[in-house]
Amino acid sequence: MPYGENGRIDLLDEEDMSRIIIIGASHAGLACAERLRHHGFAGKITIFDREEGLPLQRPPLSKTYLKAAESASEEAYLLRKPDWFEVFDIDFQPDCEVIGIDRKAGVVKLADGRREDYAELVIAAGAIPRHLPIAGGNAKGVFVLRVAREARAIRAHMGDAKKAVVIGGGYIGLEAAASLTTAGIEVQIVEMAPRLLARVASPELSNYCAELHQHNGVKIHCGIGVDEILCNSDGHCSGVLLADGRVLDADMVLAGIGVVPETTLAEQAGLAVRNGVLVSAQYQTDDAHIWSIGDVARAPDVSEVRIESIHHAQFSASLAAAAITASEMPPSEAWWFWSDQYDIKFQMAGLVPAASDKLVTITRKGRRENSLSVWSWLDGNLVAIEAANDGQAYMIGKKCLEAGRHPDPQNIANPEFSLKSLL
Ligand code: NAP
Repeated sequence: MPYGENGRIDLLDEEDMSRIIIIGASHAGLACAERLRHHGFAGKITIFDREEGLPLQRPPLSKTYLKAAESASEEAYLLRKPDWFEVFDIDFQPDCEVIGIDRKAGVVKLADGRREDYAELVIAAGAIPRHLPIAGGNAKGVFVLRVAREARAIRAHMGDAKKAVVIGGGYIGLEAAASLTTAGIEVQIVEMAPRLLARVASPELSNYCAELHQHNGVKIHCGIGVDEILCNSDGHCSGVLLADGRVLDADMVLAGIGVVPETTLAEQAGLAVRNGVLVSAQYQTDDAHIWSIGDVARAPDVSEVRIESIHHAQFSASLAAAAITASEMPPSEAWWFWSDQYDIKFQMAGLVPAASDKLVTITRKGRRENSLSVWSWLDGNLVAIEAANDGQAYMIGKKCLEAGRHPDPQNIANPEFSLKSLL
């Protein structure tokens, strides 16, 4: 094995025949491959993914992709252009499922019977959407949305749909509800929690989202579960039976009820797993030659919770690639997220401890119509900023978070106070 003195791969060995295998070709997996090359890794990089074709970007799948014509080219949505794989010399193998990891032999086993050896292995297997665990949950016209294949199926169904029920008022549900509404479909949202985005957002942002959707004609039912998906005699969904006996008519149902990390391989291989593959601050598992990044990984030293976002996918990929190649680690960044719904751009930085009763929030109006920012503190520390059509507040709040600056809530509440003075 071409390992240098520091125990990591000897990068610049021209004869380097070592191979890094990456499982999963989404945002985390591709970013990791790219960073490895930037750091000078000259060995072979192989990426396996069980989905077919070139990977698409994930964020548009619940937004512009759903609204685009079915016949529209997918080129604009590609995560990387086809020549990227050549430029970065990446051996990309789609439609290839890894079914096992033999840690002792340093080998992954593929569904087609092959065994492929690795010097370092990166698990970037992502997460899988929860399916409705109720009668009718798999009926025709009932969808989940995570990968391109599922977005294509929804789009193909939308042309004939008139009424949709979206189950789950998280970001997937809200973005899909906005896309379906814009396409002329009558939408109702059912959310079990007492408010939308209850897991991740402040109550103020939840209210803003609820009003935005209601203003666009969406009916919202919070604090209620779904007992059954009702079906026609042909097995196609016709409605949703709520726990209080009400029936919502629907010729399509979209379940956005969260995801579970795809930890099967890691568990079978005996790696430490607890709501995600447990990793160090450098995204290394408890096996020194196996790394895990993106939605599937949980790094308790970096964040108490497992983070599901594009930024986390890319940032964790950067950290792991730097560690694998013994390169300089990138500086820490505040977690950031965004969402587009109707004509509103949401930008969030930091994590809102949404369930904490010690959360202090201040809402501040922005300069544009319908714009605002919500600032959150815990024990006097600024922990998050959420902005709707207010890029300036978002940018300043994010900088405060990264600099460890904790603005006085009274200043933020004062409309005369200049946010720029915080920079
Ligand atoms: P999510 O954030 O976990 O939201 C799912 C929501 O559905 C939760 O509020 C959940 O309530 C509720 N729910 C669960 N079971 C339900 C049921 N049977 N009936 C009604 N409501 C139910 O997950 P998601 O929206 O599916 O998104 C998946 C992941 O992708 C998340 O991590 C999300 O943040 C991420 N994502 C991010 C973006 C973005 O950043 N723009 C866009 C799309 C997706 P409980 O929490 O009480 O279970």
